[in-house]
Amino acid sequence: MKWALNRQFPRLGFGWHWVDGTNHDVRISDFRASNNLLGWVNCPNSATERGRNPNRWCYGQRLNVNLRFSLPPAGKRYLACHELGHTVGLRHETELHSDSCMRVVRDTTTSYSMEDVYAVRRHY
Ligand SMILES: [Zn+2]
Repeated sequence: MKWALNRQFPRLGFGWHWVDGTNHDVRISDFRASNNLLGWVNCPNSATERGRNPNRWCYGQRLNVNLRFSLPPAGKRYLACHELGHTVGLRHETELHSDSCMRVVRDTTTSYSMEDVYAVRRHY
């Protein structure tokens, strides 16, 4: 996660810092979940949620990493890049030849495409 925060978030124009307590934008948790997801992002009941799709947003998101699957380092970086992308509003990339970690195929792409960067900069 730190790898993606340090190497990919600056490309989106974001910095980050760890905080403790309940006042957070994104809480990152890792645990063994019984589902088949490597990771996912959701807005729990405690989150502040506004707007409607495609402009829905929330503070207090939760980014979950499923420890049930042991990924190689490149897979962990892909997952971190992908799930962090969701926290800033990026959606899945359907373009087969995209160089974005937002693709959903099993992949080892560990960075955002220029389209991702432009999309985030347009929103913030
Ligand atoms: Zn996803």
